[in-house]
Amino acid sequence: VEQYRNQKVLVLGLAKSGVNAARLLHKLGAFVTVNDKKEFDDNPDAQELLSDGIKVITGGHPLSLLDEDFKVVVKNPGIPYSNPIVSGAQAKGIPVITEVELASQILAGELIGVTGTNGKTTTTTMITMMLNQRSAAGKAYVAGNIGVPASAVAQKATAADTMVTELSSFMLCGIRTLHPHIAVITNIYSTHLDYHGSRENYVKAKMRITMNQTASDYLVINWDSEEWRQLSTQSKATVIPFSRQANTKDGAYEEAGKLYFKDEYIMDATDIRIPGDHNVENALAAIAVAKLQDVPTAGIVQVLKTFTGVRHRTQYVETYQERQFYNDSKATNLVSTEMALKGFDQPVILLAGGLDRGNTFEKLAPALKAHVKTLIVFGETAEKVADAGRLAGIQDIEFTDNCETAVPVAWQHSQAGDIIMLSPACASWDQYPNFEVRGDRFIKAIEQLTGKAEEN
Ligand code: ADP
Repeated sequence: VEQYRNQKVLVLGLAKSGVNAARLLHKLGAFVTVNDKKEFDDNPDAQELLSDGIKVITGGHPLSLLDEDFKVVVKNPGIPYSNPIVSGAQAKGIPVITEVELASQILAGELIGVTGTNGKTTTTTMITMMLNQRSAAGKAYVAGNIGVPASAVAQKATAADTMVTELSSFMLCGIRTLHPHIAVITNIYSTHLDYHGSRENYVKAKMRITMNQTASDYLVINWDSEEWRQLSTQSKATVIPFSRQANTKDGAYEEAGKLYFKDEYIMDATDIRIPGDHNVENALAAIAVAKLQDVPTAGIVQVLKTFTGVRHRTQYVETYQERQFYNDSKATNLVSTEMALKGFDQPVILLAGGLDRGNTFEKLAPALKAHVKTLIVFGETAEKVADAGRLAGIQDIEFTDNCETAVPVAWQHSQAGDIIMLSPACASWDQYPNFEVRGDRFIKAIEQLTGKAEEN
């Protein structure tokens, strides 16, 4: 890390990760320039860094930046490579990295990396909880795309600690030496093709997670698709597969409703606290990592039996008069809502609707038909979601203003044994600043209904 002392570096794009990268580089003795598109007056991050003695350029990306001799550019993962500053820097041979790469360079402990299209946050969280069940080991921390800047964690982690890092494909495009001791690929579906241009590029970006691994490292990878099995052959790491279809017994797998690691029985799939087949997959991936890291089986089982989910991801909220409430506000597309519905055997009262992206919801009809007794719709897509409900033959469809007013309506239509779930199948921006706020308001409305709000 002496490599940054007295060197000129550019941090491109602020937000949480940029601010942390800039602070770290400043501390390491670099001459830091930060550049952010947002005007200075409404840019608290830039204002804060300026007062730290960092050079701040805001309101655009002036090409004159390319005249400076930067040793490295730390780019926010969301800024595309077509940005003239980025492509210009690359043309000059300046390394363009993401903040996780920088974090990995100063990390004293071990790094576990988790990528994939779906299930990253859930799997990252499960792994961290399991590692923290070990009595004699260091501490495990979550970091990365999960919302905790890796450079902040890397600064506090000791050599005995582990940084369990959620890695998006955008982040992986900007790594050079980042080297997970254990890399996890949960699955690779076709999304984000707009950014990466093609499926081939998207897959390539994901596979970068293993590019610096050697035979003493591990790649934990989903074994339930021929394509993914093939991809594993590109890795130099020791491959540990996981499979819900018992396609292999060399790693973690499910067979006849029971979960195993190699020949050891771990637990029954139905004892996993969070619902859904997709969460069995996430659990298997986490079991494989935990076993490689010597977590006692009792600790693994304890976590899976009690973990109620990451906030807003099919998160169990509470049970009130035998109705169970779930918050799945993160379900911002149709596939996520479908997955969430498939996780329940009980009748579901579904709260759905939100931002209109121009698509329709017929594809949701089979899952609605199989699981939903009452459909409560709101937001820009209310009418379209209701159409899918009618197509599914649901008799009981209600319109409300938003996901909060939907809660008392859901209550009126419910009986003991029902699931009441917010899983909107839409983004939140028509009515809320983001999906987190939407989920929080939903939970608040539940608390009001069940009387908790008054107690506090
Ligand atoms: P990510 O961090 O990759 O976005 P999350 O763990 O936050 O994933 O889960 C987001 C949503 O994706 C969940 O609410 C669920 O609907 C769906 N999901 C989670 N895990 C999987 C999986 N293994 N396969 C398919 N879908 C999943």
